[in-house]
Amino acid sequence: MLAANPAVKVREIRMGRDSDASVIKPFKIARHEVEPGGRLQFDLPAAQLYTHTPLDMPVEVIHGRRPGPVLLVCGAIHGNELNGVEIIRRLRSLNTLRHLRGTLVLVPIVNLFGFIHQSRYLPDRRDLNRCFPGSEKGSLGSRVANLFFREIARHSTHIIDLHTGAVHRDNLPQIRADLSVAAVKQMAEAFSIPVIVNAGLLDHSLRCEAGRIGIPVITYEAGEALRLDERSIVAGVRGITNVMRMLGMLPARVVPAGRTEPFIARSTTWVRASADGLFRKIADLGQRVGEGDRLGVITSPFNSEEVLVSSPTEGILIGLNNLPLVNEGEALFHVARFGEVAAVEGTIAQHVDDITSDPLYAPETVEDVELGAD
Ligand SMILES: [Zn+2]
Repeated sequence: MLAANPAVKVREIRMGRDSDASVIKPFKIARHEVEPGGRLQFDLPAAQLYTHTPLDMPVEVIHGRRPGPVLLVCGAIHGNELNGVEIIRRLRSLNTLRHLRGTLVLVPIVNLFGFIHQSRYLPDRRDLNRCFPGSEKGSLGSRVANLFFREIARHSTHIIDLHTGAVHRDNLPQIRADLSVAAVKQMAEAFSIPVIVNAGLLDHSLRCEAGRIGIPVITYEAGEALRLDERSIVAGVRGITNVMRMLGMLPARVVPAGRTEPFIARSTTWVRASADGLFRKIADLGQRVGEGDRLGVITSPFNSEEVLVSSPTEGILIGLNNLPLVNEGEALFHVARFGEVAAVEGTIAQHVDDITSDPLYAPETVEDVELGAD
């Protein structure tokens, strides 16, 4: 299934002067070289459809003039998770990248099959984020995972993997990370959003397998599949640049912006439907709830029966179901427990204010992004 033809479409753009280019070497990736101060876009031949149609994975490399880390930012490993695609599009337009130290590698759509079919999965229903590090001779998922891991991910020193909730499931912007690894914890905290979930590692996920070879990875989870959510997008762009500042890839802000101190969830729990029917939410994302508080109602389409959904614990709502049609047992709300719930709620409200007043918020064109973000 893998395309044998190495022919790639390459677009190279030079970035300004390169008088001090001698201080670092060209960056080599997937049989390409990018000069210091250069930008390169190329298409990695990812696979071939059974119609013989080639399927290429577009990659962009921005190589700074001065040495530093190699940060990979990737989106749509689950093909229907779109916020990351827009986050990367805005990130690549930022004026501040002129000051880049080190190298930024951008892959907006890893799972091209899923993106085309508006699906989380590959055509054989495999989940690409359970296929890493993959193999050259395995299933389609295993081969795509292997190609991405071998040719792209392995060349990075740090990774930020962009995700959203599933279809009809909305996530409060949150970082998921294995905080037992110091370099991962540093990245998670530097992202500077209110909620961090100390999430265990799923075997064969990118986060797990890159971690095994010593590359720290954080996952940004925000919004819902098949939707673009402006707050999630802006918080994502800001979070990535915050991590880049912490890593020394971008200069520190001249006037330090209000930093969001993140809170680490002690644990999380799903509240499930106790009946079948039509579900209406009462509580919303980011809201603080107490034990026994009403979160939603499930009604019968045929009579006036109502079943209240209440919270089993005090916490903050970090995920919810948006589809009114529910079966008993379906996950409706994701509640995170914290030591200081009131402080978390206040920080989330402040963060929403910061995001919606950011110059990056709701730009009409990409020129607004360039102007707003230096
Ligand atoms: Zn995902």
